[in-house]
Amino acid sequence: MPLFPWNPLFETGNERIDRQHRGLFDLTNQLASAVQHREPMPKLSALVERLRHYARTHFCDEEALMRCSRLTGEEIGRHVCAHKMFEHEIDRLAARADLTDAESAEAFLEFLVTWLVTHILKLDRRIAQALVDQCNAEDPDALAVEEVLIEALMETERRFRLLSDEAPSLIWVSGLSGQRGFANKAWYDFVGIDPIHAVDVDWPGFVHPEDRERYQACIGDVLATGQAATVEVRVKTASGDWGWILEKISPRISRNACIGLIAAATDVTGAKTSELLLSEANGRLEREVSERTRKLKRLALADPLTGLANRRSLLERIDREVARSAGSGDELSLLFIDVDHFKTINDTLGHAAGDAALIEVARLIEQSLRRTDFVGRLGGEEFVAVLAKTGEAGACEAADAIRRTISRHEFDGLGRPVTVSIGVSSHGSGDDGTALLDRADHAMLQAKRDGRNRCRVAGHGGRDRLSA
Ligand code: GH3
Ligand code: MG
Ligand code: MG
Repeated sequence: MPLFPWNPLFETGNERIDRQHRGLFDLTNQLASAVQHREPMPKLSALVERLRHYARTHFCDEEALMRCSRLTGEEIGRHVCAHKMFEHEIDRLAARADLTDAESAEAFLEFLVTWLVTHILKLDRRIAQALVDQCNAEDPDALAVEEVLIEALMETERRFRLLSDEAPSLIWVSGLSGQRGFANKAWYDFVGIDPIHAVDVDWPGFVHPEDRERYQACIGDVLATGQAATVEVRVKTASGDWGWILEKISPRISRNACIGLIAAATDVTGAKTSELLLSEANGRLEREVSERTRKLKRLALADPLTGLANRRSLLERIDREVARSAGSGDELSLLFIDVDHFKTINDTLGHAAGDAALIEVARLIEQSLRRTDFVGRLGGEEFVAVLAKTGEAGACEAADAIRRTISRHEFDGLGRPVTVSIGVSSHGSGDDGTALLDRADHAMLQAKRDGRNRCRVAGHGGRDRLSA
């Protein structure tokens, strides 16, 4: 005689559910007999496997049945919670080394018996009663059809549970509010929640604050339009880090109306991290390339010896300033600066000393000018300064300041003074850049002819004058 014999009082009226209950009674009786007669315990792994099978099939069936019944949401919730507790207990059992010690076998038996008494005999019979009442209240002829439909529903529920719990994708299902009524095991694992204690989980709270609004807007769009949408957001993972998911949210349609949402997401953290690293590296590369391009451009426009603007850049600048001055009516002047007897420096002290003197002359010219002036090396020992918004008088002053500075400067290792001759030209109507430069060159040659180390102003009629 088994310790817990089956009694017709336990029957719920649903053949399938009763069969499942009987299975659990058998199992409990086997364990009870082993404990009572000090027989060898059933193998732990086999016991766990049978209990898991029971939980998988029986709970699915019952939960599907409850949804068809008129039980309140609160009652259904309590029942589902009890199912979760049972599964949790099985997990704890599976974690044990064995059942051979009598104490743990007895503890487990006690759990099963309590379950039989409180759950099967109380809660489950309530569901059965609720269903029977419902069927009786409605058309009794519809009972058979109802049974078939419920059976089909239970089967669908089981398949859905199995698929969603085994799937690597993160799946959730909601009603029209968009609030999740179901999330699969992968979701709980991803965010690190134990489903047993998961009451009223704040799912949107796991989404990164910066992505939350976009995420909710996407959900709102799917509900409003009935069109599926894909969204990529960050979610706080079990480790506390942010993981990236790519989620497809689809409407659940019934009788041509949207009744809620179903979503499946993939963890794309790895791919996203590589993508971000790649775009960061690209950004760095682009910045380096543009920096190098800027440097190359600077080099292409610079004179390698003195670092001043080279001939090309100088001529472009003259043309630009002439055009600007013609447009604005502002004054503009050029200084053509040529080192006197430079060849003799090379001839007596060598080319390197000549180079050093050129660098020094360039520096002195630059220091004598205003920040708004521009100076370049035209070639050899010839320099040109472009003085914007400067008329003849101001240009002559600037020219003489340069001449004096250079003639008084003590050049390192040269042992002799260096002087320059300067030609000044000011922009007149009809002058282009070449004409303005030619006139400055012409005035500079006049300064040479007049004895060097002096400044001359280009006359518009070809007659050059002494500078002030
Ligand atoms: P003038 O007073 O008539 O201008 O006499 P100059 O000797 O300065 O003029 P000339 O045109 O006869 O000589 C210019 C010299 O400048 C000739 C050339 O070898 C030298 N030179 C040109 N470019 C460079 C350079 O980059 N470095 C050095 N060291 N010398 C250069
Ligand atoms: Mg020269
Ligand atoms: Mg010279």
